[in-house]
Amino acid sequence: MLKSWLHRIQKETDRPATESDLIPSSQQDSLNIRLDGRGLVIQCSGQLSRELSPAPAVAGRTLGDYLLAPAPLLQETPSAWSNQCLDLCFKRKNGQPLYTRGWLTQADAGWRLTLTDITDIVGKVSFYERKAQLLTYTMRIAEAMRSSRQLPELTRELLEGLALRLRIPCIAIALEDGNDGWSLYQHYCLPGTTPHWWDEYKIGPRLSKLDYSGPVLLSLDTASNASERLWAIPYRAQNRICAWLLCAGYHAAQEAPYLNSEEWTHIGAQITAPLLHRLQEQQHDQEVARYNALQQLQNVGWWEYDPQLELFHIAPHLLRTLALPATEAVSLSRWLELLAPADRGEFRIRLTEASAGKSFSQHVRLQIDGELRWYRLDMQAQIREQAPCLVGTLLDIQDLKQQQTEAQTANTRLESLVDSAPAIIYVQHYVEGALKPVFFSASLYSVLGWLPEQVQQESMAAFVHPDDRDTFYQCTHTLLTEGVASCRYRIRDKQHDYHWMLDEARLLRDQWGQPIEVVGLCIDITDATIATERLRDSEERYRVLVEDSPAMICRYRPDLTLTFANALLTRYLRVTQEQTQGVSLALYLSAEQLSAFRERLSTLTPLNPIANAEICLHLPDREPLWVVWAERGIFDDKGILCEVQAVGRDNSEVYKARLQLYQSTKMAMIGEMATTLAHEMNQPLNVMRIALVNLLRRMETQACSPEYIKNKLERIESQIVRASRIIEHMRIFGRRSALEKYPFDPQKAIEGALSLTRDTLEQSGIELTIKVVPLPQVCGHLDQLEQVLINLLVNARDALLQYKSQQPTLNPQVIISANCHDHSVQLQVEDNGGGIAPHQLPEIFEPFFTTKPAGQGTGLGLSVSHGIIQQMQGTLSVENTGKGALFTIVIPAEPQPTTTMLAKT
Ligand code: ADP
Repeated sequence: MLKSWLHRIQKETDRPATESDLIPSSQQDSLNIRLDGRGLVIQCSGQLSRELSPAPAVAGRTLGDYLLAPAPLLQETPSAWSNQCLDLCFKRKNGQPLYTRGWLTQADAGWRLTLTDITDIVGKVSFYERKAQLLTYTMRIAEAMRSSRQLPELTRELLEGLALRLRIPCIAIALEDGNDGWSLYQHYCLPGTTPHWWDEYKIGPRLSKLDYSGPVLLSLDTASNASERLWAIPYRAQNRICAWLLCAGYHAAQEAPYLNSEEWTHIGAQITAPLLHRLQEQQHDQEVARYNALQQLQNVGWWEYDPQLELFHIAPHLLRTLALPATEAVSLSRWLELLAPADRGEFRIRLTEASAGKSFSQHVRLQIDGELRWYRLDMQAQIREQAPCLVGTLLDIQDLKQQQTEAQTANTRLESLVDSAPAIIYVQHYVEGALKPVFFSASLYSVLGWLPEQVQQESMAAFVHPDDRDTFYQCTHTLLTEGVASCRYRIRDKQHDYHWMLDEARLLRDQWGQPIEVVGLCIDITDATIATERLRDSEERYRVLVEDSPAMICRYRPDLTLTFANALLTRYLRVTQEQTQGVSLALYLSAEQLSAFRERLSTLTPLNPIANAEICLHLPDREPLWVVWAERGIFDDKGILCEVQAVGRDNSEVYKARLQLYQSTKMAMIGEMATTLAHEMNQPLNVMRIALVNLLRRMETQACSPEYIKNKLERIESQIVRASRIIEHMRIFGRRSALEKYPFDPQKAIEGALSLTRDTLEQSGIELTIKVVPLPQVCGHLDQLEQVLINLLVNARDALLQYKSQQPTLNPQVIISANCHDHSVQLQVEDNGGGIAPHQLPEIFEPFFTTKPAGQGTGLGLSVSHGIIQQMQGTLSVENTGKGALFTIVIPAEPQPTTTMLAKT
């Protein structure tokens, strides 16, 4: 420290420093200390000895006990530190340091230390050093500020360094805020303090009024409160204050007496000048970046042309866009190559004119990567460094041009659409409460034969059919009050014919709600109107047809709920037209019919939507109605059945007649079998008669044992049971069939048929074989199926007897078999009676076809049998086996299989 100070003195005086320079004469107070050989203090004398702490009277202390700062040299014995200059800092009684300098000399078997007070000099040197350190610090920070990016952080660091070095409680930099005011840019406060003073004392507005060239001490509150002082150092540039360095609660004269006003101003400038410079730089960089970004976003950039060198300089990002080398200027010839050939001539002329001072703007196409792109070139002449220069902008307008082209195309399309549309587009101006036609599309002529100017001369109402004028005026009124209107009226064409027009118009208003004009569209709906009228007429005709039809016509949903029923059906159902909707057909069907109905509907598909059936309706207060029913399903887009249309014809009479026919043939069959049956009945009677004759004869001749009598009576009873079984079955078989079909076990029909024919077959010497498996139920009439089987068996018997008469060796056989497969029941009757002549096969089921002698055959048996099986939704067919005929009945099985078993015989 002392050395640097000496060095400074030397520099200032330009001569070597001497010891007397160090000791000002007025301060040559001395301190003499006697030490023994080991260095212990023996005595202190001189004026300064009174100021030492501890008091020098105490013996046996080392020299180190008096020092404020330890001196390592003193750890050796005095002989080690003699003959050299000693700088020692003693502790004063008031705690302050006492800087001394002296020499150790040998004296009286000990040592003598002679020291002089140099405190004042050391203090000054310290001031210089602190000032120098401070200036170095601010210089270093200012240097860092010139290159750092973290400007706010660095400023705060600088302020912190200054606050700690100068013991400033709160230090801040205030900058202009751009609105003629001041704001804090950055601050640092020692722990426990805050810059509340800035807002509290409204420093910003106060600074605006100040104009100082050097530091100023501002009193913030009362002058007595030192902590409320503000030491403010302005920074001036271009003759005005640009920044303030503010030290709040700071007494500069006390805390930094070594700094004068100029030095404070210098410190302030060292901090704020680079800061302001950097801030301006940053602002400028930002502006440039924004400008560049804007240019790139807008695809716009500058360009310059040097007419003398014939060179273009273009903004770098534009060079990239134009696929030109980034480094070079572009020659005029290269630029012309870039232009689309069609634009080159005009550009050359304009460039020449611009060189003569005339600005220009031209839209050109530039070839970039093989594609043409629209640009707008602007250029104007300038004088730069006394030389003419052309500057301007290049703007990418490709999108704009494209939009323009698209808009033009759309417009052209729209215009051609308007002109070629079958609709007439018109515009009417609103003038003083009236609508005046101003525009009609060209379709006016093609639709009505009028030219726009012919219609524009008159009001549109003049062309409207007199009967429709009220409608027309009402439409105009609605348009003016509500803004939109749609109406139909007839309008006259050039040939004085009237066309039905659909007029849809909209009123346009200005920003104050006042009507401006009406835009409308008139469509010629003459054809459509006529078609609608025709359709209405035709609908009415069909409605009458349906309503008055002698057939029942209805529509119903898949759940059988009626949606429509014509008059006849509503009459049958005893409901009114209004009540029809919601009534279910299921109410009029038996359980069997209902399930058949549902089954039938489930078979309807979009490809096969039609079904026919004979249904029976149980109507209120009348006998069941047999109806031939034709249905057609209606399906939605997904192919789901949504409704059924049906037409029904009353078939009750036919049904009854058919039943009557079945009954008649049945009765005829019984009649035919009468002989056989009489024989059948005779058998038990004969047995009973013999038993009775034998019993009576025995009783007359000898006594009869009770066992003998019982035996005879039991025999008679068994024959009675046999006879009554035959009679009972005949009785049942002879009854009329039930009206409706019902499910039954087909084996019962086989059993019934056999009970009536077994005897006749056996008597005829025919071997009967029965092959039957358990069968599911079928739907129909049990007695009718039995009738069919009897007919087949009787026919087989007749054929066999006939054949046996020709072939006496024949062993006549009949096989009855029953099977079930593919949800069908199959019954077969086969014989070996020679079969049917092939040419007769096609007619065998025809009514009245018979080969039997007159009086024996009716020719109705097979025809009726065929009808019965058909009614059961089944088939009856015949084929020749080679030995005889094979008749096959196939009937659909009911879903529930029967568990009844029939023993094979
Ligand atoms: P009918 O028995 O009164 O003649 P059908 O309609 O029952 O009337 O029979 C018609 C004809 O079919 C018979 O006359 C006979 O020629 C022929 N026919 C029927 N069944 C057989 C059979 N099993 N073998 C040969 N011919 C038969």
